[in-house]
Amino acid sequence: MELKKEILGKKRKDYLEWDEFFMGIAKLSAGRSKDPNTQVGACIVGDDNRILSIGYNGAPNNFDDDLFPWNREGDPLNTKYLYVCHAERNAIGNYRGSRKDLVGAKIYVDLFPCNECAKDIVQAGIKEVIYLSDKYADSDETKASKHIFDICGVTYRQLNKQSQKVLRLSLKPDEVIKYID
Ligand SMILES: [Zn+2]
Repeated sequence: MELKKEILGKKRKDYLEWDEFFMGIAKLSAGRSKDPNTQVGACIVGDDNRILSIGYNGAPNNFDDDLFPWNREGDPLNTKYLYVCHAERNAIGNYRGSRKDLVGAKIYVDLFPCNECAKDIVQAGIKEVIYLSDKYADSDETKASKHIFDICGVTYRQLNKQSQKVLRLSLKPDEVIKYID
């Protein structure tokens, strides 16, 4: 059969690009976080554009959210920092398949990974980080992350500006995702 383009109709134009889709999944995952101050999501994607895992920042498994110290200040033992599991670590840990699948994968995160997650990313064999915010670029943690990535051959790039769109996600029936800008 000969396919004539004129009679086939045109495909939808405002569909999500892969980068937008996966960052959207990361952002949606962040919506599960119980942290009152910082919500971060991560989405790990195989080289065939299949989603392997997602994660968000939160308490370790079986640590009651209501007994978790969500404070950022005060006695270190009563702040979140010593206990919280970051989105990237959770995304890696949540994967239930073979660890080999993570080798060569990409990870989408809405905040540049800290040095602890950078080590987890390297050890998992993930090769590319796509991020949105780099608001802690001046911190030693983020500087160390970049150093780790540079030395260990993990590339990183910010989601390009054209893809930094605002979408309206409706969970009502018969409404599709819409671009606000
Ligand atoms: Zn981290």
